[in-house]
Amino acid sequence: MMKYTEMTARQRQAEYDAVLADYEKQKALGLKLNMARGKPSTEQLNMVMDMCSVLVKPEDFVSDGIDSRNYGNVDGLPAAKALFADILGCKPEQCFVGGNASLQLMYDAISKAYTHGLLHSEKPWSKLEKVKWLCPAPGYDRHFKVTQTFGAELITVPMTADGPDMDRVEELIQDPAVKGMWNVPKYSNPEGVVYSDETIRRIASMKPAAPDFMLMWDNAYCIHEFEGDFVPFADILSLCAEYGNADMVYEFASTSKVTFPGAGVSVMATSEANLAYLKPIINIQTIGYDKINQLRHVKYLKNKEHTLALMQRHAAILRPKFHTVLDALDREIAPLGIGTWKRPMGGYFVSYDAMPGTAKRALALCKEAGVTMTGAGATFPYGEDPRDSNIRIAPSLPPVEELQQAIAIFCICVKLAALEKLGV
Ligand code: PMP
Repeated sequence: MMKYTEMTARQRQAEYDAVLADYEKQKALGLKLNMARGKPSTEQLNMVMDMCSVLVKPEDFVSDGIDSRNYGNVDGLPAAKALFADILGCKPEQCFVGGNASLQLMYDAISKAYTHGLLHSEKPWSKLEKVKWLCPAPGYDRHFKVTQTFGAELITVPMTADGPDMDRVEELIQDPAVKGMWNVPKYSNPEGVVYSDETIRRIASMKPAAPDFMLMWDNAYCIHEFEGDFVPFADILSLCAEYGNADMVYEFASTSKVTFPGAGVSVMATSEANLAYLKPIINIQTIGYDKINQLRHVKYLKNKEHTLALMQRHAAILRPKFHTVLDALDREIAPLGIGTWKRPMGGYFVSYDAMPGTAKRALALCKEAGVTMTGAGATFPYGEDPRDSNIRIAPSLPPVEELQQAIAIFCICVKLAALEKLGV
């Protein structure tokens, strides 16, 4: 195999004819495959079914004297706060345990900034001329959409192998209109980047011009290695406090990829001062979240150590799937010099950078051949990848045999798109 850019026009034409023939063959199979969203597989969901039988008798539903079936405790059961504090390395008093979706807690925190203002806000953000928001990219599409829906101006910050480009961040936060920043510090979505210790320190010690700057620290994949041992991570709350930024940070996590995405438990960890301010405001909209589900999780997951053991069982299911994708890329694409990717150790995605200007075309070809992928551009603010290059691959949902077919078709499509771009 030879790099496409080093081929003569005739060689490229011959390669194109061969790849196109492969493509037509695959298309004729009429497959329906999906590598679009980071969903756990049925096998993973089935693995945790015991959680549904931990609460049976009436007395099972009582935790620390609190009847989980009844109203109250808007910030969650103490036992649930203790479980998340153990996992995140923060204090139980800093944890607000919510419903099934951490995304809802994130949306709600930002929504409160707009409607009520935060603890250190001069006024609600809805009364401001302009709100700007830092979006390390490639990043998580749903994050970007949350801040976009409130009308913030999204500013792209390039991601590096160590996390966001901090020189750029430190420059941008001098602007008081810059009110916050998205982060996925461990196994970032989609690249699987783990922020370096130095990047994390630079973030924790930032001095933004906005007094109510929100450091959104979405630790969605904090215990989600599929390769190797658990990698410890810093407690961002105490690091921020160390630099006088205790009220700047809002950390999020959930059990969506530990138990059930449709019925897990989420947490927002932030300073006690922030919680004292936010709790009464949140209490207007709900008397309490689903504490039965919180208790089910407490009884089933028990503590950090026990949860990490479960994560190794998830890893055993996920690992072969990631290997299927990465091996196919190594074998089919690496020698051709038409794309790059990283080898993540955890998280739910592989991020593929296609030859610039070909991502949209490659995914259109995939769609025609029955393979659904996350739309090109989704990993950038406003859904616009300026280089039309980044593609997010989600290998978790399909069984390995289907994934083999899907990634084979994907490789054919990125080859075709690259050959078209180079000219045939
Ligand atoms: N954050 C990140 C970075 C994610 O990738 C996802 C799911 N894809 C979520 C949050 C969603 O989390 P939850 O289910 O807790 O809303």
